[in-house]
Amino acid sequence: MMDARLSVITCDKCGEPMEKGQKILAIAEGKIANSNEELDFAGCGVRYACHIGCWDGVEDIGFLISDN
Ligand SMILES: [Zn+2]
Repeated sequence: MMDARLSVITCDKCGEPMEKGQKILAIAEGKIANSNEELDFAGCGVRYACHIGCWDGVEDIGFLISDN
């Protein structure tokens, strides 16, 4: 379980609000804090979030990782 606070409240795909109880997909940025048999992930922000039903694949994800 990972808790993350999103800075936006609307879906990046359809633009509609994401409301309590809805399933969403989020892409989080962070660092691996520890690597043993499992990885500890220290999240520092959500780059992208959309309703899980709005996700249509990874083909447009390039813009998320090319802006640094
Ligand atoms: Zn949506």
